[in-house]
Amino acid sequence: MFKKISTIVLLSVFTQISFAQRNQSYTLTIIDPNTKITEKIRAQLTAAFNLVYPAFARADGYGTKRDVTLEINDASTESMIAEAGKIMVNSSWLADNSAKLERELRFKLSKNWVSSDTLKKKGYQLIFISKDPNLNQTVKQNLIATYFKVYPKLVKIYNRKSTKEVFFVVDTAYRAVAEASGGRILFSAAYMKAHPTDIDVVTHETMHIVQGYGYGAGPVWLTEGIADYARYKYGVDNIGSKWSLPAYKQNQSYTNSYRITARFFAWLEKNVKSGIIATLDSELRDHQYTENSWVSLTGKSIKELWSDYSKNPEIKLTYSGK
Ligand SMILES: [Zn+2]
Repeated sequence: MFKKISTIVLLSVFTQISFAQRNQSYTLTIIDPNTKITEKIRAQLTAAFNLVYPAFARADGYGTKRDVTLEINDASTESMIAEAGKIMVNSSWLADNSAKLERELRFKLSKNWVSSDTLKKKGYQLIFISKDPNLNQTVKQNLIATYFKVYPKLVKIYNRKSTKEVFFVVDTAYRAVAEASGGRILFSAAYMKAHPTDIDVVTHETMHIVQGYGYGAGPVWLTEGIADYARYKYGVDNIGSKWSLPAYKQNQSYTNSYRITARFFAWLEKNVKSGIIATLDSELRDHQYTENSWVSLTGKSIKELWSDYSKNPEIKLTYSGK
């Protein structure tokens, strides 16, 4: 029963994302040593691949193979075996079912996932794909709830043009903590298992989607500092995950990035200029940010501001909790 339902959902996932895939290239090599298929079927295979595979790869997660071999292989009686990078098709099935090719390829590829859910709320969509059979269901629900609670808020505050269709992929092959690219966030299955309360990874990573600066807009420490500042300010349970901004120490620098930079930003907001982070975020997105932005906004250089901070770094911090 569950399988059936999840299949229907999987097909709709593909429908929704197939058009989003334009500038990434995938190659198909058809291997047919005994010339069992006609030129027409060969063309149909290529067309089905081009329609289905890029959308699959987009949703699949980390390091999905771009070069794919499709082998005509009658050793198996199954219609098709499909995984990232490798597809095998039975030629006699193909001769009778070429019209079903696209649908079958979608179905077989999506079987590589443990689950896929499409969730919608107030104009926002989340496609949640799990490749981890042991994903804790409470963690899953918390990741989803945090998306719908935090992301619309971040979009409203920082960038109303942000995408309203986001993918979450819990990936067992991905080894870091989490990362955002395009509208997709990868979560490490191992990290979430070890840190089930670290739900505000969602806040940090969805802020990266909102940022959407593109390449070369500004330094990495600034991008990451802003994302952690957003986590500090809009996170749902920083107390529960024991996440906090570390107290100032002399050996720190604003370029340390992440939480150290975020604390400095909280201090700037309170003591120098309220709203400065939203302004910088906007400049970065418009590719207008330069080191001189600090001077224009505050009358001081970033180094002078950090020096002021180092002399009087006290600040009352308030953390969110459930
Ligand atoms: Zn980040």
